[in-house]
Amino acid sequence: MAPPVDPVIADSELPARVDVVVVGGGIIGTSTAFFLAQKGVSVALCEKGAIAGEQSSRNWGFCRQQGRDPRELPLIVEALRIWRTIDRTIEGDTGFRQAGIVYLAEDDKAAAAHEKFLDYARPYQLDTRRIAGAELAALLPGAARQWPSALYTASDGRAEPQKAAPAIAAAVRRRGGKVLTTCAVRGLDLAAGRIAGVVTEKGTIACSSVVFAGGAWSRLFCRNLGITLPQLKVRGSVMRTSPVANAPETSLWAPGLGLRKRLDGGYNVAHGSLTDVDIGPDNFRFAKAFWPALRGAHTGLRFRLGRRFLEELAQPARWLLDRESPFERVRVLDPAPAPDLLDAAAAQLRAAFPAFRDARIEERWAGYIDVTPDAVPVISAVEQLPGFFVATGFSGHGFGIGPGAGRLMADLATGAPPIVDPAPYRFTRFSDGSKIEVIAGF
Ligand SMILES: Cc1cc2nc3c(=O)[nH]c(=O)nc-3n(C[C@H](O)[C@H](O)[C@H](O)COP(=O)(O)OP(=O)(O)OC[C@H]3O[C@@H](n4cnc5c(N)ncnc54)[C@H](O)[C@@H]3O)c2cc1C
Repeated sequence: MAPPVDPVIADSELPARVDVVVVGGGIIGTSTAFFLAQKGVSVALCEKGAIAGEQSSRNWGFCRQQGRDPRELPLIVEALRIWRTIDRTIEGDTGFRQAGIVYLAEDDKAAAAHEKFLDYARPYQLDTRRIAGAELAALLPGAARQWPSALYTASDGRAEPQKAAPAIAAAVRRRGGKVLTTCAVRGLDLAAGRIAGVVTEKGTIACSSVVFAGGAWSRLFCRNLGITLPQLKVRGSVMRTSPVANAPETSLWAPGLGLRKRLDGGYNVAHGSLTDVDIGPDNFRFAKAFWPALRGAHTGLRFRLGRRFLEELAQPARWLLDRESPFERVRVLDPAPAPDLLDAAAAQLRAAFPAFRDARIEERWAGYIDVTPDAVPVISAVEQLPGFFVATGFSGHGFGIGPGAGRLMADLATGAPPIVDPAPYRFTRFSDGSKIEVIAGF
């Protein structure tokens, strides 16, 4: 079941022409469109379903610096800076709270990984620390057990996935941008080898640049353009509880358990240590590119061969723009959650925090998470097609970094000095002989 998302008033008419069309109304597309509109650039945001209908409403809601791949640290520091004042900037409610994040360590191996992260964090003067004893216990009210140590970042936060992208989309409109929902972009209108516009199911919008922020759909869209984006999907399952008193304010991760307090007083809960992979044809096509990621995977992966394989096999690699595209056929990717993982997480939660024994499980859902071979996003121009930019592949941690990524993408699409060095996020790293390394965060 899809979690309900704050409604967004959309524009009913397509503009004839804008400077930039942003495709995809998740946290990345809405943030990019917002920062473009803030720069005075005319922008249209096209979403095939509803704003935040896919990953951006289905995630846990962690906005974390801690445990990041070091290549993402400069951008997440900027993202957190934006989150802290975002509600004022956009004149809306994203639910952001700077409530900290704690990762609990059961054993020496986890503690050593935490120690390693402190080395990465030092150059950025993050407030991340290893904690234990009474300080740790104070962050875990109602805990029925103790953990030997933890990694803690007080300046990390949480926000509401069901509110954040819709609030940012509303701000795009207030800044003069157009927001078009149920408006799939079928492909690009090209003239003399560069972008002249986009072809949507409702007509054409002329523009000089396109930012594709289509999450799990990016590989398919690029494939139709003859551009190979190595991207796969994994399925994460989540549930939410009724409100619970005397439970942690701080978001936490422990083996087999992810927990984040919601604005409504309930909690988003997930297993956290296991993720499902519904095998598709791309798992074979990209097997070599993803081999290092598989070996270094920091969460366990469960491979399933089922209906999804046939569904993806039936997807066309190329299509004409004057007829229905794959993006109209599936308005919202809404995979089924894994009941066994959620049951295991619920049992773990109730054992660790008895206050949850009387809580109801109000909803369960799942989301397809798009991943790249190095688990680092692509935020980049696509050199082979002038005017085409991609912001995708956030590999399970794009919600927290979203506003920073949107700001960076807006800089790149307008040729402004970038907020951080964009080199780690360049698309060409997959084709220019660069070493693709997984420096897994956790
Ligand atoms: C279960 C789960 C837990 C997670 N937990 C966290 C977390 O705690 N913290 C964190 O930072 N991240 C987390 N993530 C990851 C995070 O949700 C994603 O990285 C982030 O939301 C990606 O945003 P996006 O805008 O790129 O993609 P999406 O939110 O998926 O948005 C892409 C949009 O593009 C649209 N689209 C695609 N193609 C077209 C087209 N041709 N025309 C028009 N529209 C199109 C889609 O309909 C979709 O709405 C989690 C993800 C999941 C699923």
